[in-house]
Amino acid sequence: MKPNYILHIGFDDTDSRNGMCTTFLAYKIVEYLKKEHAEFLDYPYLIRFNPNIPWKTRGNGAVAIKIKTDRPDAIKKKIIEFIKKYSATNEGANPGLVFYQQEKIPKHFSEFGQLALCQLISRNAARKFALQNGLESVCLGNGQGLVGAIGAIGYSFDDHTFELISYRNESNLGKKREIFKESVKKMQEATFPRTFNSYDEEKDRILIAPHGPDPVFFGVRGENLDSVIKGASLVQATEKFDGYVVFRSNQGTGAHLKNELDVFNLKPFSSGIITGKVVDEPKIELGGHVIFSISKDSQKIKCAVYKPTGITQTASKLMKGDLIKVGGGVRKASQNHQRILNVEFIEVLKLQKNQKTVNPVCQQCKKRMKSKGKNQGFECVKCGKTFSHKILQQIPREIEKRLYVPVLSAHRHLTRPIQRIGKLNKKIEFDDSRKWFHIYSNRNSGE
Ligand SMILES: [Zn+2]
Repeated sequence: MKPNYILHIGFDDTDSRNGMCTTFLAYKIVEYLKKEHAEFLDYPYLIRFNPNIPWKTRGNGAVAIKIKTDRPDAIKKKIIEFIKKYSATNEGANPGLVFYQQEKIPKHFSEFGQLALCQLISRNAARKFALQNGLESVCLGNGQGLVGAIGAIGYSFDDHTFELISYRNESNLGKKREIFKESVKKMQEATFPRTFNSYDEEKDRILIAPHGPDPVFFGVRGENLDSVIKGASLVQATEKFDGYVVFRSNQGTGAHLKNELDVFNLKPFSSGIITGKVVDEPKIELGGHVIFSISKDSQKIKCAVYKPTGITQTASKLMKGDLIKVGGGVRKASQNHQRILNVEFIEVLKLQKNQKTVNPVCQQCKKRMKSKGKNQGFECVKCGKTFSHKILQQIPREIEKRLYVPVLSAHRHLTRPIQRIGKLNKKIEFDDSRKWFHIYSNRNSGE
């Protein structure tokens, strides 16, 4: 018997705005590996990284695959060919591919993955990491994809979700997708909250399908394998899809907004949270965006809440002294604006009392007293009762001590949906007997 090797395969940044997509490449590679009788050791990973870096492709998603095989060299060779064939390098993609032929992923690999979630990592740092750790790597374009490729194989989940992504039959590529909205609506009703972000009731829009020319037909996100398979089976459309693959993912986990940002060294393009007190009250800017400042350890940080998030109302009701936790990404300073935190959520931890001084009320007549003149006290005009000073009146706050998250239409891949707040999926065991990958027999027959 030939010896078996464990091979970790990671790749990223193969897609472009004009059609190619990293998960489609994964679909092709899984199909090939199945034909090669490679043994899968886990679901493929679909890992979203820091959404606040400037050169991200559409979703900044990387893929990792873990297999056992007796012919790793042939497989590596073939996968390199796949990357070259299916990457949109001429359209600005900068693919990175890594192989790691070891059973266990060392702990510092996952630290690299954590960093890639929250910071900007240079491709040089990624190259150095690959060299020092015995990773075989292939870069095309400028090689920026190496960061995600390493981050994906090293990713360790403390919470995860699944996404079933279905792909279009090649004969339908470029044609308009026609997915019946009603079926998606019904699917959501039948499977929510085990599936999520499928249909936006407020905007009456389906969220499972991309609009561009890429080969993704639709994707169903959910809490486990059963729910995404069930959800996908309920989606109806005018065309049949080619097949699907289910990914284990960090989508919907809010993983990029867990670390406390260093307010003394607020790095541009980093993501994270800051807990601080409101020091500059909110101002509503042209376009409806809300700007305010918080202070932590005597450092003042300017925060911006953009109109499309749907939480500008909340932000505009903040008051000086409120203690809040905000999560978001740091925008780079430029000539026109200073460094600013783009807020993705607000958690109100402590509300300052809103009070003002008013004339006292006559206890008997329940009427507000009139001033008798400067420092002369107050008098009830009805019964003549007097009182010496003004009193404090509580004005109810219009916001509550709770978490405020963006509306569905402003969600990013990593945004934790409201129903997932406090939910943690411990890593669900891989079950290869389940249909996590499938190709329909109607392939290439068109509609
Ligand atoms: Zn009175």
